[in-house]
Amino acid sequence: MKILIVGAGLYGAVSARELAAAGHQVTVIDKRAHIAGNVYTEDVAGIQVHRFGAHIFHTADAAVWQYVQQFADFNRFTNEVIANYKGELYNLPFNMNTFNRMWGVTTPAEAEAKIAAQRAVLGGKTPANLEEQAISLVGTDIYEKLVKDYTAKQWGQAPRDLPAFIIRRLPVRFTFDNNYFNDPYQGIPIGGYTAMVAKMLAAPNITVTLNTDFFARRDAYLAEFDRVVFTGAIDQFCDYRFGALAYRSLRFETEVLDRDNFQGNAVINYTDAETPFTRIIEHKFFDPANSLPGHTVITHEYPQDWVPGAEPYYPVNTPATAALLARYQAFAAATYPQVRFGGRLGAYRYYNMDQVIAAALAALPAVTA
Ligand SMILES: Cc1cc2nc3c(=O)[nH]c(=O)nc-3n(C[C@H](O)[C@H](O)[C@H](O)COP(=O)(O)OP(=O)(O)OC[C@H]3O[C@@H](n4cnc5c(N)ncnc54)[C@H](O)[C@@H]3O)c2cc1C
Repeated sequence: MKILIVGAGLYGAVSARELAAAGHQVTVIDKRAHIAGNVYTEDVAGIQVHRFGAHIFHTADAAVWQYVQQFADFNRFTNEVIANYKGELYNLPFNMNTFNRMWGVTTPAEAEAKIAAQRAVLGGKTPANLEEQAISLVGTDIYEKLVKDYTAKQWGQAPRDLPAFIIRRLPVRFTFDNNYFNDPYQGIPIGGYTAMVAKMLAAPNITVTLNTDFFARRDAYLAEFDRVVFTGAIDQFCDYRFGALAYRSLRFETEVLDRDNFQGNAVINYTDAETPFTRIIEHKFFDPANSLPGHTVITHEYPQDWVPGAEPYYPVNTPATAALLARYQAFAAATYPQVRFGGRLGAYRYYNMDQVIAAALAALPAVTA
């Protein structure tokens, strides 16, 4: 088949790789000037810079971990995030180091007793929103200093107006373990994600064209190809005919500094309301072995409201958007039977990298069906 893949991000690249391996003729287009979508990294002063936010590969899926090893060697980076609340530094995720810094407690029993006492403000009721869920998990002090304002900045809404499920799986540990993720596999591809995606796309029957927007030639593409895999936004594909889905956007400010070390860690979250950004990333710490001394690159990350035309980084999954998504999916399936929607925007799912790879692999039979 002649297959068009719209989007050279991870979903598009994995689809292209596997469809080409199965003998199909694959064309990949992307409206951006580069491959790799949001996992795009580029070399700035010898440092691999994560252009669209910190990307740490982590998974519990052994098959996905094995799959990506074909395209890159991974280092042993472990994400150990620091929270800065008005100059007070805390370890994340919430663990014995956090509890010790917050309350001076030194044993798990003391920490659990402190949280239980603070949880009492809920009066034993089941948490009905993010605020109550956080207080139930870690108590009021940690909620006030490390969750409340950070979450409000991130989502543009007060935690009591957000659903509890967003943090239901937040790790809370009564051990001295600062590893942000629970997954058994974790790392960063040495040489960056762009090189990894380039390797996925390197096949004689894959053609990649950048700076090319699908919507500029939509009808021609639909006529020309047997199948289209679309990894852009499904509501945009359908001309927003039922109204736009909800998204959250981001703004990144990146600068090169003439010093070895700016903050001593890859990721520091700013959890107070007054600081307008949510985090600062210092890119060299994602792969310290491969960074030259003398300079460093940092990025401030500012959450933004999404408006049409802005980059839709995060889908905002609510009951209302789930209903709207179902309408779009039904319309698209009936109107464009040759198009398959996938990836973070096509499926409108808050996928991590491992999930997007697993989803692309699982969807392969449906692409050519
Ligand atoms: C700030 C941030 C941090 C993240 N951190 C992590 C992390 O630490 N770990 C993790 O596992 N995951 C992380 N993720 C998630 C990760 O980025 C996604 O899982 C992954 O990038 C999704 O791949 P994708 O191919 O679905 O989408 P994308 O990477 O968005 O690729 C879609 C591509 O389609 C192109 N496109 C869209 N519309 C058109 C069109 N009309 N014509 C042509 N091209 C088009 C876009 O330009 C884009 O290149 C993070 C995401 C963000 C936003």
